Amino acid sequence: MEIHVGVKFDVVHFTGEKIDDPRVGELIRIGKILTDKGFCPGNCGNLSFRVSKSFVITRVSVSLGKLTPEDFVLVKDVDFVGKKVICAGKSKPSSESMMHKMIYEARPDTQVILHAHTLSLKNAITTQKSYPYGTLEFARSAVEILKKHELVILKNHGFVSIGNTVEEAFKRIR
Ligand SMILES: [Zn+2]
Repeated sequence: MEIHVGVKFDVVHFTGEKIDDPRVGELIRIGKILTDKGFCPGNCGNLSFRVSKSFVITRVSVSLGKLTPEDFVLVKDVDFVGKKVICAGKSKPSSESMMHKMIYEARPDTQVILHAHTLSLKNAITTQKSYPYGTLEFARSAVEILKKHELVILKNHGFVSIGNTVEEAFKRIR
C-alpha cells in the first residue's frame, strides 16, 4: 500500500482489479461526444458508474475524447473525514471522486454520473453559490439539488447529469 498526496485528498492504492463492464465502452463513446461538443476544455470532466458498494471513474487529467479502458479506476471507498480515496491499481482517480461518491450515497437509484463543462443547458437548475473545485462544499452544493433533480449546473463551473443508464444520463444534456 502506498499513499500519494493529491490536490484535495490522498489516494490509497491497492492491487489492481480488472474492470469488466459494458459501461466502460459506453462512456468512452460519450466522452468523445462531450469533447466534440466542446464541453471538455483542458481535459476537464469526469464520468463514472456504480458497481457493488463502490464505483468506477475516469482517471485524473485524462482527455475524455481519447479514453481507453485503462483510463478507468475502481474506487473502493472514500473517507470523507480523513479525505482519502481508496482505489484499485496505480492510476489516480478523478479529482471529483468525492463528489461522485457523495452523489451515489444521496441517490441510491443512480447508476451513472456525467460531469463536464458547459453552463448553457436547458432544464438545468444552477447552484446559488460557487465553491472551489474538488472541495466537499462544492460536492455538497451539487448533491443538494441532485436529491430532487437529475441535472444540475454548478455555478461558474459545469454540469452534473445522473441516470440509471449511460444513455439516460446523456439524454438529459442534449
Ligand atoms: Zn469540473
